[in-house]
This record gives sequence, C-alpha cells and structure tokens, in this order.
Amino acid sequence: INKRLAKAEKLEVVSHLASSVSHEVRNPLTVVKGFLQLMMQNDLPDSQRKGYLKIAIDEVNRANEIISDYLTFAKPAPENVKTLNIKEEIQHTLNLILPLANMKGVKVETELEEVYTKGDDQLFQQCLLNITKNCIEAMPATGTLKINAEITNEQIMLIISDNGKGMTKEQLARLGEPYFTTKGSEGTGLGMMVAIKIIASMNGKLSVKSEVNKGTNFYIRLPYLK
Ligand code: ADP
Ligand code: MG
Repeated sequence: INKRLAKAEKLEVVSHLASSVSHEVRNPLTVVKGFLQLMMQNDLPDSQRKGYLKIAIDEVNRANEIISDYLTFAKPAPENVKTLNIKEEIQHTLNLILPLANMKGVKVETELEEVYTKGDDQLFQQCLLNITKNCIEAMPATGTLKINAEITNEQIMLIISDNGKGMTKEQLARLGEPYFTTKGSEGTGLGMMVAIKIIASMNGKLSVKSEVNKGTNFYIRLPYLK
C-alpha cells in the first residue's frame, strides 16, 4: 500500500508540473504571436519593428527560463523511481552548473559521503539545479557555493549554502510561493516551488536559514537507504 501511495503521489506531482509548465509557457508564446502579427503590417517604421522584435525575443527567453525552472531533464516518467547515489547526483548537477559558477567567479566546494536514497534522478537533479542556481545568482564574484552530504540521526542531511546577499524575513516567508521573485523580468519565481515539491515527493523536508548580506543555507533531509 505504501508503495502504491508513493507512486500515486509522484504521479500527481509530475502531472501537476506538466500541466503547469504548458500553461506558463503559453503566456509568453501568446505575446510573441501577437507581436509577430503586428510586424506583418506593411508600413511599419523600422524603429517600431525593432521594438516589437525585442519584446518577442525577451518573451521567448522568458519561455525558455520557465521551461528550465520547471523541467530541464524530467520527462513525465514517474515510474523512474530508483535508488539514487546522492554523491553521483550532486556531481552530475555540478557539471551542469559549473559553467555558470565559473562565469560568475563563484567557487564550488563539496564534502560528500556515500549515501543513498530513493527517487527519480531527473527530478532530483532538477531540484538541486534550481537551488544551486539561486545560490550562484545570489553571490557577487568571489562567492563560495558549498554542498555537504552526511548522515545524521539515521537521515540524510544535505546542506547547500552560499555566502551571497541572503533574504529578509519577509522574503524568506515567501520562498516557494509561485511567482515570488526579486529578479524582475529575469526571474520566474517558479524554481523554489518546484524544488520544494520534488523534495516532498521524495518524503524529504527542506528548511532554510538566511541572513541579509551573509548568505543562505538550505537544509534538505531525506530518508536514508541502508
Ligand atoms: P527566481 O530564481 O526565478 O527568482 P525562485 O523560485 O528560484 O525564482 O526563487 C525565488 C526568490 O527567492 C528569488 O527571486 C530570491 O529572491 C529568493 N532566493 C532564492 N534562493 C536564494 C538564495 N540562495 N539567496 C538569496 N535569495 C534567494
Ligand atoms: Mg531560481
């Protein structure tokens, strides 16, 4: 019964993600279509055409960001739950995020024990990616992203931390709320919502500590598979 429940829950998460992403991507696409139609006018001044083009390109970028935050790798394949080697999953995610870290001059440090849990590797990597990307984005050049995995009290404790700009109490309270972003048109406000859902689907828990101008720690507790 537990197995079936876990699977049903997972199905629900995945189908929710899939239906949200199609909904969210449709908005910018509608805007793009509208501006492309406007550009079909014959006597359109060049400056106006350029303005429309810019909006269309910005909206395509936005659609791209939404897809990245929601489902970079995940195909809707909920039967993909298997034993995950946390160390390997983190290293895999780091390969993806390293170019961004390098570009920003952010150092990455890891201390990873060999630990195992159960989950969908693609969803788990999505979750790690969304959190580490936020950490890197919160840091000026010369920051350090730290990732730590260990066993405490028969549970996996994964700590992801940055020494970036941190969050106020109000911001922290809204973390994970859909569309909450402090990044203006650069942000989607969807990354943390997705990350939290994925952790919950793995029977895990996320807690966050943050201090303005000091940094942020993400604590992810996950069931430990012996
Ligand atoms: P987005 O990154 O598109 O803004 P997210 O859901 O990933 O959306 O994050 C929501 C908001 O939470 C961010 O805009 C930022 O204000 C805050 N936040 C998340 N992670 C961090 C972090 N590591 N340091 C500081 N602020 C963060
Ligand atoms: Mg984000």
